[in-house]
Amino acid sequence: MNDIDTPDAAAHAAPGQAALDAKWLARAIDLATLNVSQGGGPFGAVIVRDGELIAEGQNRVTANLDPTAHAEVTAIRAACQAVGDFSLAGMTLYTSCEPCPLCLSASLWARLARVVFAADRDDAARGGFDDREFYELFARDRATWGMAVEAVRPENAPEPFDAWLALEARTDY
Ligand SMILES: [Zn+2]
Repeated sequence: MNDIDTPDAAAHAAPGQAALDAKWLARAIDLATLNVSQGGGPFGAVIVRDGELIAEGQNRVTANLDPTAHAEVTAIRAACQAVGDFSLAGMTLYTSCEPCPLCLSASLWARLARVVFAADRDDAARGGFDDREFYELFARDRATWGMAVEAVRPENAPEPFDAWLALEARTDY
């Protein structure tokens, strides 16, 4: 997948973008390596807007007892607090490793403009992380998963959405 995506992304990048990308990726990789010596997982990320650093993040899963505290999620949370918005539209996430499905989804929810990564899911697998396994899982029928995912639909299942749509003062996201 990378072999197809990388030249295409480079072709669309502005002049000088490659040097900027290298600079921010280097910071993400430094954060990742540093994190290992600080009791965290080997992952780091930064979020940048118009060449300006908005936030940094490191993996804090074991330190915080939080399985969702991936470096990208940590950086997204910090960036949202920094800019006072739940949207990071127009910003770029640089991460030391290809985002797992959780972080890729978080990036979509955050409306990031770009995601740039260094190491890939195969590097992560070598390190003992499940990224590649989860990607493969999503490609398979849920009936084959080790974790049960079941739909149970009571009559009032759609009720929260009725309440949401009826609320004129809602903040759409
Ligand atoms: Zn992740």
